[in-house]
Amino acid sequence: MTGHLVVAIDGPAGSGKSTVARKVAAALGLERLDTGAMYRAVAWAALERDVPLDDDEALAALAGALRIDLVDGVEVDGTDVTAAIRTPEVNDAVSLVAAVPAVRTELVERQRRWVVERGGGVVEGRDIGSVVFPEAAVKVYLDASPGERARRRGEEGAAALARRDRLDASRPTAPLSVPEGAHVIDTTHVPVDAVVQEVLGWI
Ligand code: C5P
Repeated sequence: MTGHLVVAIDGPAGSGKSTVARKVAAALGLERLDTGAMYRAVAWAALERDVPLDDDEALAALAGALRIDLVDGVEVDGTDVTAAIRTPEVNDAVSLVAAVPAVRTELVERQRRWVVERGGGVVEGRDIGSVVFPEAAVKVYLDASPGERARRRGEEGAAALARRDRLDASRPTAPLSVPEGAHVIDTTHVPVDAVVQEVLGWI
């Protein structure tokens, strides 16, 4: 990955990752990769195709077979799923799908390829600085109070959000964690543009 500028942004749901990643990418003239959308795409397809969420092998085969395009929105095998991957059903399923090691192996490989093809990028997720790009030039871990994160996520609801965070942080493979060397920002009371400026200052 030498020579590629990778900005890794991790954190729980509602911590501000997407907004910050989008603005940092725009400021740097880089593209942004929303890796959560990739896990959501696999979860959506599993629900669509009645793949049992406890069948690791079938989920891994599904992940390997899907074409996932992240351009403006999200497409799975040519179908626009931009809105469909944000439903309560997908919210509930995604952490189970993302806990399957072979699903992660497949998607992590695609994430690394995405960065190589573009010569860098701003990549957001849960394991970007810890597993996907441990050598990223800049690692950021965003957090916020549970109440503020639930407020930002609105419809998902505090209980569903807490369940997802718990599953993401407790899974054996690539759990949500503060990567070594990451700058940690609590965004609870910090305006987005101030967070963006702080991140840009580390580059
Ligand atoms: O970022 P977002 O909330 O859309 O992510 C949806 C889910 O995808 C997370 O709750 C987590 O289970 C999974 N995920 C992951 N690793 C990433 C990004 C997302 O496990 N790098």
